[in-house]
Amino acid sequence: MQSAAATSLAFAVPKLTRAQTKVDVIVIGAGLSGLHTALLLEEEGVNVQVIEARMRAGGRLETLYDVPGTPETGGNSFGHGYARLIDAAKRYGVDYEPNRQSYLRGMEIVIDDKIVPIDEWPNHPKNPLPKEHREDAPWEYYMRFMKDHVPLAQSGDWLDPEFAYLDIAFDDWMLGEGASSEVIDMCCNHKWEYNNSTHDASALIVMMEYLWGRSVFLKDGARSSFVIKGGNQRLPEKMAGLLNN
Ligand SMILES: Cc1cc2nc3c(=O)[nH]c(=O)nc-3n(C[C@H](O)[C@H](O)[C@H](O)COP(=O)(O)OP(=O)(O)OC[C@H]3O[C@@H](n4cnc5c(N)ncnc54)[C@H](O)[C@@H]3O)c2cc1C
Repeated sequence: MQSAAATSLAFAVPKLTRAQTKVDVIVIGAGLSGLHTALLLEEEGVNVQVIEARMRAGGRLETLYDVPGTPETGGNSFGHGYARLIDAAKRYGVDYEPNRQSYLRGMEIVIDDKIVPIDEWPNHPKNPLPKEHREDAPWEYYMRFMKDHVPLAQSGDWLDPEFAYLDIAFDDWMLGEGASSEVIDMCCNHKWEYNNSTHDASALIVMMEYLWGRSVFLKDGARSSFVIKGGNQRLPEKMAGLLNN
């Protein structure tokens, strides 16, 4: 499949030919999952057709090639623990490189529709962080809080009945651990992991995701974050180009 809608490709083929084409499996969606599935099936000799609704391959990986700096609108980085993705990049001949964007310092704090320069943050009147941590950006304080308070040792521990008591609203857990509601609002309520808010998310699931993130993005205590050279969308594009159909 090329990065064009499969339906339009089908219309370009004479009807008789299409009727005679035998496809064993139809995969719906040319995101990483669909493409990986299709390529694995082809390796086993299965005749696969991938159908994609959009005019490009990649799904939630999308690189804005025509914008300076080629920003990612979807998946932006992966860690050393992304074994399948790294294997796919190597297997399909796509280079990757260290992610040079700073996760923590590349962001802005916006309060009441105004950007607060990071150096004004420690003394900003709306900074709700405890005195000794006012220099932390909200997302840094969140990571610090989790590091200091999460009782699980590794992500798989969330399945241990010993921790079932943590299957409560995430904000209730934070309040119980001494965070103020202003801190919870500032540091956590913007994060997509929590659905609409920290009150909708289970503390146990947030902890599982936090520890999983540490295990795949930290190596020997140092950050290990990578991107596909030239834009993350290059990987699904290459995979789509390798398909037989
Ligand atoms: C803003 C953002 C940031 C992210 N950051 C990261 C990150 O830093 N690290 C990380 O690991 N992950 C990140 N993710 C998540 C990651 O991008 C996704 O988990 C991954 O790309 C999902 O791949 P997928 O193939 O499972 O699904 P998708 O990429 O969603 O692919 C599904 C495909 O199916 C197509 N489709 C759906 N329905 C139909 C239909 N009926 N007919 C035809 N086609 C259909 C869609 O158009 C799409 O192309 C991020 C996601 C977003 C949105």
